[in-house]
Amino acid sequence: MPNAYQSMSTESLDEEIKHLETEVAHLRDQHLKLDMARGKPSPQQTALSKPMLDVLDSSTPLVDGDAIVDNYGTPEGLPSARRLAGQILGVDPKNVVVSGSSSLNLMHDLVAHAFINGVAGAEPFYRQGEVKWLCPAPGYDRHFKVTESMGIKNVPIPMCEDGPDMDTVCELVEGDPTVKGIWCVPKYANPTGITYSDEVVRAFASLKPAAPDFRIYWDNAYVVHCFGGTDDQLLDIFQAVREAGNRNLVYEFGSTAKVTFPSSGIAFVAASDDDISEVRKAFSVERVSSEKMSQLAHALYLRDLDGVRAHMRKHAAIVAPRFALVQSKLGEGLGSLGVATWSNPHGGYFVSFEGPKGSAKRIVALMADLGVKLTPAGATWPYGKDPNDSNIRIAPTYPSLEDLGQALDVFVVAVKLVSAKIAREERG
Ligand code: PMP
Repeated sequence: MPNAYQSMSTESLDEEIKHLETEVAHLRDQHLKLDMARGKPSPQQTALSKPMLDVLDSSTPLVDGDAIVDNYGTPEGLPSARRLAGQILGVDPKNVVVSGSSSLNLMHDLVAHAFINGVAGAEPFYRQGEVKWLCPAPGYDRHFKVTESMGIKNVPIPMCEDGPDMDTVCELVEGDPTVKGIWCVPKYANPTGITYSDEVVRAFASLKPAAPDFRIYWDNAYVVHCFGGTDDQLLDIFQAVREAGNRNLVYEFGSTAKVTFPSSGIAFVAASDDDISEVRKAFSVERVSSEKMSQLAHALYLRDLDGVRAHMRKHAAIVAPRFALVQSKLGEGLGSLGVATWSNPHGGYFVSFEGPKGSAKRIVALMADLGVKLTPAGATWPYGKDPNDSNIRIAPTYPSLEDLGQALDVFVVAVKLVSAKIAREERG
């Protein structure tokens, strides 16, 4: 669709800019204070899990099969929690470790393990000189920070409609032994909302890495987070790895951060027999055994995958209207202008917005000026550098529907004004 501002006469465009500036001035006078910055569940959503707080009391037997809950032991996680995590990820519980309350923390632990000790007998990264990590972008800013913080070189990889550009991934992974890992969010990706196609999953599973210590960090954070309509189907990566004749290639992560309570959920990692035994050894240096009261509470409360799905339907009833509002507000406000595109995911926590080249920083700054906080422009790219300065991550779950509607109205005006100004500047 042609950009309506580019097609306008200069006179009409100047008129339009004047009109939009008046609208912006009105919005500024409203002294709004709204936040669409981070993917956090709303208070309504976290309230759904409050009954979990009642499943443990002083009369609860603090055992789980043979495992003792109120003392050291079972560092791999309680059997019932590993069963639950195994069902969520679709893997055998023997290949799962449940530990702590943050999957990002487990990812950091494993990159640190590779850095300090080395993976599968290889030299630790710190002795290997420059090592690289592939970062499909736009992607999750906190992933990129983990590898950046250890001095690993983050390499952006283009994202396509059905996952990362696998030609580029294959070429780099199979041709360059300094490439040691890749960040992936395979279902309802942060921020694009897409789910990797079967072809993409099979291409990952068939990789023949040049580096024996290369691993895919398969962060399945949103595996059970559909909005209640179509649930995207993601091929089982471990099955695909086996079919491709590969073995030790993938660490898969998940957590209940956005099922129960962010920062007070349970987190888990799954891997092949060899890899999970190495993970357990690496973790045993850092902790005697991890927190188990929360594991027990989660297992008693959620029980199994059916229990998780029933609970997620309650989340869906709260988040789906918010995502529908994003689509309707953006569609009504910007749909006919041809200045922007945005994703329309079936699940997850984000909508990815693409404005004109050179617009993202300006839109985010204008929004801040108008009292609406957005994720910083560029955050979805390694080192915060979006080459087109065009991507903005919209996180609609936290605000109330009313606040979200207001924030989106402001966003539409900000996008229009910045896009109109860019079209005007292009004319000199
Ligand atoms: N992975 C992804 C893709 C996420 O979007 C988030 C939260 N925004 C996390 C991991 C963090 O999960 P946790 O709280 O379990 O560390």
